[in-house]
Amino acid sequence: MNNPYLVGAVLAVLGLALGSFDNVAIYRVPRGLSLWSPGSFCPRCRRPIAWHDNVPLLGYLLLRGRCRNCGDSISYRYPLVEFLSGALFLAVGAKHGFSWKVEMLPELLMVTVLLIVSFIDLDEQIIPNRIILPAIPLALALVALVAGTRGDWGILLRSLAGAAIGGVPLGLLALLFPRGMGMGDAKLSLFTGVVLGYHQLTGFFFAFLTGSLTGLALMALGKMGRKSRIPFGPFLSLGALVALFLGSQVWELYRGMIGR
Ligand SMILES: [Zn+2]
Repeated sequence: MNNPYLVGAVLAVLGLALGSFDNVAIYRVPRGLSLWSPGSFCPRCRRPIAWHDNVPLLGYLLLRGRCRNCGDSISYRYPLVEFLSGALFLAVGAKHGFSWKVEMLPELLMVTVLLIVSFIDLDEQIIPNRIILPAIPLALALVALVAGTRGDWGILLRSLAGAAIGGVPLGLLALLFPRGMGMGDAKLSLFTGVVLGYHQLTGFFFAFLTGSLTGLALMALGKMGRKSRIPFGPFLSLGALVALFLGSQVWELYRGMIGR
């Protein structure tokens, strides 16, 4: 069961399959539709999509990106989200040497939530409560499972510290400057803080760095004015992924710089 190739294959398949579900959530949650029924349908002609056309990545390739019924083109976003989900699941596996570890559970939850929330935020400039509110207690429960399995309750304490680091400053910013920062951003970083612990600081650093660089670049290109908003959720997500996969290295780098 702990054969690394088997672990990698199971994670890739799981990630691709969940990527399909992510697409459903990205489309339906902002529209207030049920996640569970009906099954997948074409957004244009509303015809149900057969299971064999709905296989992640392959379905899109076999249909050459067109609906079998109405011929309307299917957004490249669908296979992109599926691919990203598979790749992120594999990356979590690689982080743990492709052997089953309970630590993977909160991390797999985090990459899934980040994918869904980022694309919804890009589309609608909103981080929906329907996703982020259940995600927070679920992440806490999974971290508690890790702490219990390892017999190390310090893990849970660091997770709560991460939640405070993630939630409090952005929550205050959202209260004081509601036009600049949304409460959804605060809930999202509280959530990533639960999973990342102290590494949430690294996540913030890269979120603000990439967010402000992107803002400056868009302004320089004349694509946005000083007052227009860009969604911050995707940058918080990007920062959280950097912190998840490179957090320890960044921490070592920092310790090296201050001479420990
Ligand atoms: Zn169609």
